Amino acid sequence: MKITVVGTGYVGLVSGTCFADTGNEVTCVDIDQNKIESLKNGKIPIYEPGLDLLFERNTKQGRLTFTTSLEDGIKDAEVIFLALPTPPGENGSADLKYILGVAEDLSKMITDYKVIVDKSTVPVGTSEKVHEVLASNLDESLFDVVSNPEFLREGVAVNDFLKPDRVVIGTSSAKAQKVMERLYAPFLRTGNPIYFMDERSAEMTKYAANSYLATRISFMNEIANLCEEVGADVNSVRRGMGSDSRIGKRFLFPGVGFGGSCFPKDVLALSKTASDHKYDFKILNAVLDVNAIQRERIADKICNHFPDLKGKTIGLWGLAFKPNTDDIREAPALYTIDKLLEKGAKLKAFDPEAMENIAKIYGDKIELVSDQYEAILDVDALAIMTEWSVFRTPSFKTMKKVMRKPVIFDGRNLYELDAMKEEGFHYESIGRSIIN
Ligand code: NAD
Repeated sequence: MKITVVGTGYVGLVSGTCFADTGNEVTCVDIDQNKIESLKNGKIPIYEPGLDLLFERNTKQGRLTFTTSLEDGIKDAEVIFLALPTPPGENGSADLKYILGVAEDLSKMITDYKVIVDKSTVPVGTSEKVHEVLASNLDESLFDVVSNPEFLREGVAVNDFLKPDRVVIGTSSAKAQKVMERLYAPFLRTGNPIYFMDERSAEMTKYAANSYLATRISFMNEIANLCEEVGADVNSVRRGMGSDSRIGKRFLFPGVGFGGSCFPKDVLALSKTASDHKYDFKILNAVLDVNAIQRERIADKICNHFPDLKGKTIGLWGLAFKPNTDDIREAPALYTIDKLLEKGAKLKAFDPEAMENIAKIYGDKIELVSDQYEAILDVDALAIMTEWSVFRTPSFKTMKKVMRKPVIFDGRNLYELDAMKEEGFHYESIGRSIIN
């Protein structure tokens, strides 16, 4: 099948590459000329494990191409995916200007039947808006609009796309349904389901899924905070509750709050949808409030430990919003950095992939170094912000040798309390006792 993907970011590039890998001819379109140039030169602008191999194979074999021209990009395409940004607008609802803008452009370019698939996360009712914009210039027989929310996770995006737990398709067109069935069949060979539903339900499914996951995180963060007050250990509590099959083990890890380009904006957008419909979605608002407090928790712990941070140096391990990505959008580390800088601390930091992105925001306000031990050379304390594997079993001996003082604030609960006691660290984590 000939496919066009409009928007070549995390979702668009991964989807386009994976669709090419099942034999489709894919053109990825983006307005960012630098991005397209770099992709044409074989350089992937994001870090996503496993993407490089697929990218190389499919570009070499000519199934994956790139352009900045929407008009050229959609020539002969049967399906056009929209993988465009939907950032929060001023009032918290998702800003649809990119989606509706491209729909408007498409309405003036389409000359034969195309399935327009919305892969971006968009509020309920967006399919109808896209349909309306297209229909303003196009005969309705020339297109169908489908809602196909994407559930991939950055860091494991390729695997998630190739082996999805499920595919959700919202459409009222039997013709478009057949096209989508054919396109996704190779990814569902193991029997995972493809759910067909109406467009509004598909749009709601994505927000419900992300908001529920964010709720689990905020819930566990509150349990962890309470554990600290009552002298319980959240790790034991997590294991005890997670092995109940009604609850499940995943997504129960407390930490420094959720971040990334999806959870914060999607929870906010669903809350806005609720209030637009005069529905007071109390849980969602609490999820956001808890998160706003939690993402400052490590900085707060550091400020409590050091009443005056002026003249102190803090080392940071991890900047990305989670491991295995270079994405720092809404990363909890940003909130910690801002607060510590505001209090006058000096910062040194290391992240395996995200330093280039951090440098774009902070310039020389933070010292970025290329090694995790260099990031703690002569520091008064270390703050762990992202649970990259490389931080899980460091040499405590080297750490103690290079740090000015053996003090760790661990936002990801990477180390055993007994080990910290034995090694002689002052160790503060999330939902567990302080080791002195
Ligand atoms: P992104 O910012 O990484 O990529 C969006 C791309 O669209 C950018 O490259 C941008 O230059 C391009 N673009 C903007 N306007 C354009 C236009 N008029 N024509 C062509 N290209 C244009 O965003 P993303 O993270 O890939 O997210 C895209 C959508 O998918 C969002 O709605 C997001 O909520 C959703 N989503 C994201 C993830 C994720 O993990 N990142 C997962 C599931 C769903």
